Amino acid sequence: MTAHADELTPYGGVQADAAWAEEVRRLARQRDAVLLAHNYQLPEIQEVADHTGDSLALSRIAATSDASTIVFCGVHFMAETAKILSPDKTVLIPDARAGCSLADSITAEQLREWKARHPNAVVVSYVNTTADVKAETDVCCTSSNAVDVVSSIPADTEILFCPDQFLGAHVKRVTGRENLHVWAGECHVHAGINGPELAERAAADPDADLFIHPECGCATSALYLAGEGTVAPERVKILSTGDMLTAARSTKAKSVLVATEVGMLHQLRKAAPEIDFRAVNDRASCRYMKMITPAALLRCLREGVDEVHVDPETAARARASVQRMVEIGTPGGGE
Ligand code: SF4
Repeated sequence: MTAHADELTPYGGVQADAAWAEEVRRLARQRDAVLLAHNYQLPEIQEVADHTGDSLALSRIAATSDASTIVFCGVHFMAETAKILSPDKTVLIPDARAGCSLADSITAEQLREWKARHPNAVVVSYVNTTADVKAETDVCCTSSNAVDVVSSIPADTEILFCPDQFLGAHVKRVTGRENLHVWAGECHVHAGINGPELAERAAADPDADLFIHPECGCATSALYLAGEGTVAPERVKILSTGDMLTAARSTKAKSVLVATEVGMLHQLRKAAPEIDFRAVNDRASCRYMKMITPAALLRCLREGVDEVHVDPETAARARASVQRMVEIGTPGGGE
């Protein structure tokens, strides 16, 4: 269970200068490690990594990489997903306390109890879940393919959808499905991207595009509001990371409001420096993501910690639900 972020003191005291970056790269080579950084990581972590992207894209890179060790700069469930897909590799996370409030919204035991009350239901889980929850899941989904995953299930079959209530509400509205039950989970960053604020920012800048990145739970409330018509649909672009960067290079808009975790701004500004990218809410920063500090990364590479373990039986069951996700629709997740 994730500790409350207020109780956590990240590893500190290391300056992210050129000598640090050189040492990180040297240690990574020595360990035969590939460095992966999620888009919501600190800019200096993104810069030193071999690859940046969203969780699914990074897990795929991890699985196909020749490196024997994966250093996953992101939150714990993401590193677990990499381990599920690459069971023979060593997976390290620079700080195992980097949890996720959305993934912690439901435990495997709570899901088992829910399933017991709906014995014929199919369980669909958003990818922001622990390995234990994935092992209790029939099909995982991303925001990009959640509607396709739900639509692939026979109409008369009950569905239990967890853990994100905003994504669940969005899918229920789009599919019109009454037999879809939604778990009341959410991410703490959600609170920072609320309806009135989104509407106010969009009204103040009527020519701006609105980019919503759906892969992290923090964007799903914006997804819901866009679907509700709070913001004109033609201005709303719901994009995976790779598509967001492509759209940044091709849009005619001079300014873009970005409704997601603020770390994404780093890659966007690099892709299109002439565009004014602004966060819908600049407080929408995930403290768990930001626990992967320069000091934590150095400690990780020097000491080979923290290693991520998923027991083989759980991993096998979880892998099946992740593989079904990858087979249906477009799971999204391009770098
Ligand atoms: S932003 Fe929210 S959903 Fe994403 S990792 Fe942080 S707590 Fe989890």
